[in-house]
Amino acid sequence: MSRRNLAGLSALLLLVAASAAEAKQWKYAGMHPRTGQPGDGLCHLETTHVHSVAPQYADTLYRTHDNTYVFIGDPTPFGYDGPRHAYYGHHPVVLNVIINIDVDVDEVEYCYHDGPHYHAYEPPPRQEFVDKEEVHYYAGEYPDAYRRDNPKLVRVNTVYRGWNAPRPEVTFAPPPQYHGPIIQVNVGVDVDVRVGSRPPPPSREVIIIREDDDHDHDHHHDNGKHKGHKNKKFKGRD
Ligand SMILES: [Zn+2]
Ligand SMILES: [Zn+2]
Repeated sequence: MSRRNLAGLSALLLLVAASAAEAKQWKYAGMHPRTGQPGDGLCHLETTHVHSVAPQYADTLYRTHDNTYVFIGDPTPFGYDGPRHAYYGHHPVVLNVIINIDVDVDEVEYCYHDGPHYHAYEPPPRQEFVDKEEVHYYAGEYPDAYRRDNPKLVRVNTVYRGWNAPRPEVTFAPPPQYHGPIIQVNVGVDVDVRVGSRPPPPSREVIIIREDDDHDHDHHHDNGKHKGHKNKKFKGRD
């Protein structure tokens, strides 16, 4: 084959390779699970980059900015061992802060993880949080967009349930400033729901706060299984 033909062939192959790659690339920014399987770990590239692997659970674990996928979930199941921050319940996440870009208006999304969980990022600026025993609680109001997306995005909890990753230990009731859902999450706690039966779906109706502010009584701790008397029950969010 002549040198010229060879060059032409190379150029053609490059073109084919380029277009094939272009057709199958997804843009990411910030740390994210490599594949979505916990054993495959995390990609730690901070700046915008591409992979030929589509984001798994993209509709619940990621939000998009400019066609770029930003992972906002709890990185613990994927073997994350960096600095982490403990949160309880649903809270705002500011995408432009996570991926460190300048914008005129914050891009606020919401995390729908029920109960105690971790993030690699600290509570975003310009949002109201209160801390109790080193756990962050969102103390602001939830907007209509949060409510509208709730049925879809709250499924993140179904995704995480099977992974049984460690969660922050929270043994007290949330502070009153927190208006989000209060839901028992029995991961890593000695309960019987995982033995012989599937865990129940997260309840959106019965919300239980364990508070020992009633009069003294013979009440042994049972990790919240005891849902009968002496516990306060709330319906709904407001
Ligand atoms: Zn990556
Ligand atoms: Zn969260």
